[in-house]
Parts: sequence; structure tokens; C-alpha cells
Amino acid sequence: MDHLFPGADDAAAHGAEADDGKRRHGARADLVREAIKTGIREGRLRAGQRLREADLAEWLGVSRTPVREALKTLEAQGLVATVGREGLVIASLSARDVAELYTVWADMEALAARYAAENARPSDIKLMLAICDKWDEKLDAAELGRLNHQLHQAIYDAAHNAFLHRALDAIDDSLALLGLHTYSVPARRAEAGLEHRAIVEAIARHDPQQAANAALTHIQTSEKLRLSLLAESPPFL
Ligand SMILES: [Zn+2]
Repeated sequence: MDHLFPGADDAAAHGAEADDGKRRHGARADLVREAIKTGIREGRLRAGQRLREADLAEWLGVSRTPVREALKTLEAQGLVATVGREGLVIASLSARDVAELYTVWADMEALAARYAAENARPSDIKLMLAICDKWDEKLDAAELGRLNHQLHQAIYDAAHNAFLHRALDAIDDSLALLGLHTYSVPARRAEAGLEHRAIVEAIARHDPQQAANAALTHIQTSEKLRLSLLAESPPFL
């Protein structure tokens, strides 16, 4: 079959091939897991799509053992599911799952922005502003998705709370199941850029309340758009 991720950044695959002799299965399983997550986030793998161990192993240039290990972890995280005779597929979220996910994301994002306003170091602020500067509504949806991911990760880093960071990473993984839809809407591209800047500027001013408010507004605005897009073309099975 065709490669699962045509045009994907193949660094993980090449790294896995080059170091095949010395890497342990666990490290390779991590690469496989990250490659699948990236595939989901960038829309190359979609809800309900079947995952075959042999295809993934061939694409990544690894044996089937780390692939099997990665799929087990992803299943435990709810990103991969076993569906009847289909076997393992990319998981689907119900409408209720999406609502629950956004509710907790909005509150935790606000908390991260608040902590970032309290704890951000000059280097954190410099990085967040640099990512905001790269935001350009003319970029394609996948590129904006990557920048968005970088910015939110930078905010979590700036919060300097490892437990919150891990909890937000788990939410981020589940959000990947929703794909890139919001940046496929042209008007959202510029709007999201302004919302990001409002969050980062409040963090830079060390204003926790404004940072939390701006983060909450950003996620809630995204949720409204997402729900209207899901109503048009639900990813649910
Ligand atoms: Zn964002």
C-alpha cells in the first residue's frame, strides 16, 4: 500500500533506520507513537481509519514489536480503538466527548496562561512572541496547526508546572483526533492569531487575570467554530 504519511517529516523514520541496531524497542515505540500522533494531528490519519501493524512497520523501517507496543499505549490513551472485525482503528470522539474535552481544555488552558503570567521567564516570553510573529493567515492550515501547537506548548512550558503540562499534553493528544478543521476556515486564521497575541501580551505584562481571560476566550471561540463545523461534517462513526 502507499505510505500512510506521504510527505510527512521522515526524520523519525530515518532516525529509526539509522540507529536500528542500538535503539531499544521502547525508544522505537516512542517514535512510532509520536509519528501516529503527528499523522492524526495533521489530518493524514482520520477517525475510523484502520491501522495495520505491518504497514506501519514498513513505513517507519522498524520491526512489528515496537509498533505493537506503540499501538497498545495509544489504545490505553484512547487515541486508538479496537472496532469489531476492523481491528485497530484511529478512535472517534462522540459529540459528548468533544463537549467534555473543550470544557476541561478551556479551564486548564486558562490555568496555564495564569501560571505563565506568574512564572514566565524572559526567554519564555521571547519564544512566545517569536511564534506569534510567524503567524501569517496566508500559511496553509497544516502550517498554522503546527504553529498553534508550538505556541500552546510554549505557554505550558512558561507555566513551569510539570503536572499541569502533562495533563494538558493528554488533552492535546485527544484534541488531535479532531484534525485541523478550524484553520480550514479562512476567517479563523487571522482571528486566532489576534487571540494568541492577546494571551501572550498579557503573559508578557505578568497579568494573570487578563492572561486567563484571553486564554478562555480563545478556546471558547475555537469551540463554537468547531462545533458548527462538526455539525456540518461529523467525524463520528
Ligand atoms: Zn491556539
